[in-house]
Order: sequence, then structure tokens, then C-alpha cells
Amino acid sequence: MAKADYYETLGIQRNSGEEEIKKAYRRLAMKYHPDRNPDNKAAEEKFKQIKEAYEVLSDSRKRAAYDQFGHAASEGMGSGFGGFSGGHGNFSDIFGDIFGDIFGGAHGHGAPGPQRGSDLRYHLEITLEKAVAGTTVELEIPTMVACSDCHGSGARKGAVPVTCQDCDGYGQIRMQQGFFSVQQTCPTCRGQGRVVNDPCATCRGKGRKKQTKKLSVKIPPGVDTGDRIRLAGEGEAGEQGSHSGDLYVQIQIKQHAIFERDGINLLCEMPISFVTTAIGGELDIPTLSGKAKLKIPAETQSGKVFRLRGMGVPSVRGGSIGDLLCRVVVETPINLSHKQKELLKEFEKTMLTEGDKHNPKSRSWFDRVKKFFEEI
Ligand SMILES: [Zn+2]
Ligand SMILES: [Zn+2]
Repeated sequence: MAKADYYETLGIQRNSGEEEIKKAYRRLAMKYHPDRNPDNKAAEEKFKQIKEAYEVLSDSRKRAAYDQFGHAASEGMGSGFGGFSGGHGNFSDIFGDIFGDIFGGAHGHGAPGPQRGSDLRYHLEITLEKAVAGTTVELEIPTMVACSDCHGSGARKGAVPVTCQDCDGYGQIRMQQGFFSVQQTCPTCRGQGRVVNDPCATCRGKGRKKQTKKLSVKIPPGVDTGDRIRLAGEGEAGEQGSHSGDLYVQIQIKQHAIFERDGINLLCEMPISFVTTAIGGELDIPTLSGKAKLKIPAETQSGKVFRLRGMGVPSVRGGSIGDLLCRVVVETPINLSHKQKELLKEFEKTMLTEGDKHNPKSRSWFDRVKKFFEEI
């Protein structure tokens, strides 16, 4: 299918100015945004096309290439010259701009405004016991917090940030360079669109400062390695009072000496003497909530798995609790004394006199091996 013309996609003339392109994009992006059109594939597709068209037409260099070569400009050219991939500014930047306007962002003309705070990721290692029971951890996070002297505005007490005169609040300026007009970040306001003429001395107008923030975070029972807890607004503070980023706490469970985890189940391997497996007995086995008794029936074979219901991990979504699965492994005794060896030989003799009664598996296996060699 041929790709739609970018100008047609945005419903604008080929000679449309920057402002018209931006306006058209906003109007369409809002109309077709996936948040407003849940489960609407056609709208999603349309939204993608609009976004792509805007990314090209809003960038003077890409636009010039597109005007000259059409869609071919974006194809078959590495990421170096001319290709549309990459480019400056990612989509969330553009979007922050649009939503900033909808939700009452103070910057006029759709200027980019102060930068939103970055999201932060914290790598948290906890023990299996704490992951199962749930816990509260105290985190110390080196981050940016709002400057307390100017309450994040960046302006000295009483002063307010004003629209940048050089870029008229756009944060970008156009420069003529040969055939192309190049768009650049405004050096006066560094793309902010606003300048603080009388900046706060403490934060030098940034509205935020470096600080290690202490935070108490509740970890729900049942978390597992790879789970991520999002704390909205607990990332870096934005510049000059704009939105803070989010904090993501990435969970990693420490290796346990006894238990291995498999989703909501716990697994453990339990060595038992062959005497116990033969004549049966009762064992103390470890669980995360203390000891439990496990009855080993006589004639238990190596590899048998005992399931202790409800002794596993609670589901982090609530509801079900997993099981503890104990796998029995018969341990061959080592370091035997002369006497012990004699007793075992004695024991073995009693076994042999009674045919395959005690070792049905070995007997049938040897029979099969015998038959196998006969047939060769
Ligand atoms: Zn300040
Ligand atoms: Zn400026």
C-alpha cells in the first residue's frame, strides 16, 4: 500500500508554516490519541501516521528532504544523513507539550517549557523471607528535589519567570544556513521558553537542587524478581516547578540457602537416609514460617515430591497461596566403618536369597538388559 502524503495526512497545504503544522498535528493527535480511542485499531493506525507526518514536517531538514524526494527520503539511507529515524526530540517531548496545554500548563504558545523531572530506577535486593511476608524498606535516593527557597519556581522571592524574548516562548529559533533554514534550541532560555530575570540564588534559577531523598516504600507480599513498583511523582523534581518524574523500584530476590522459587511455589530438595526411606519415619522440614513435620511413608523412592499445601508464596495480586514442594533424594552413606560395611554385606545377602521381592525395579531392569543383549 502506498504511503499517504504527509501533508494530506495532516490536512495542510504544502506551503504551510511551522505554526500551522503544529496546530494541525495537535488537533488530529488529540482526536485520534489511543487514550481517547481505546481498542480502536483504525484510530491507532491513523494516530501513528499523524505522528510520523509531524515528526518529518516539523523538522526543517527532514521536511526539505521529504519535499524533494518524497517518502524515498526516509528509505534506504542509513541513520546518517537524511533518514528520518532518530532525529532530535522524542515523542514524549512533543506529547508533554500538548498535554501540558490541555491540563493547564502555564506556558503560552505551546512553548516547550521547563523540563519534566527524569524517571528514576532503584535496584532493590531483598531476601526471600521478606518478599514472601511483605516489608517496608527505607530507601535513600540521590535525586533532584524542588528548591525550598523558591519553592521550585527558580525565581528570587517575588520575581516570576517571564516569556523568553528571543524565541517568543517557543524554546526554538530558526536560522538560515545556505538553502536550509535550521531550527535550533534557543540559547537564551536553553529551550525552556521562559527566562528568570531575577533567579533564585540557591538553585541558580533551576528550581531544583541535588539532594538525597529518604523514602519509605511498602513492598507487598509475594513480589518476585523482575517485579517493578512504580511510585508516581517520586522521581526527579522537574525544572522550575514542572512535573516530577516517577520512581521505579526494581525487585531482585536474593538467592536462598534452602528454597528455590517457582512462581508462587517454593521448591526444596531434601536428602534422606535410605533407612528412613525404606522403613518410613518422620522428619522436621524447614518452611518459611518455621519447622513442619513431614511423614515419610515406608518404601519411599528417591525423587518423590511431597507437597505441603499453602506453605509457598502468596500471589502478589492477592488470593491464592502457593505450595512447598519437597523432593526426596536418597543419600548414599559415605565414610562407612568396617563394621558397617560388614552389616551391609550381610544385609545384601538376605536380599539376594529372596529373589526380586525387594528390588522389583532393578530386577526388571536387569531382565530388560539381558533380553537386549540376547537380541543383538
Ligand atoms: Zn531556588
Ligand atoms: Zn528562548
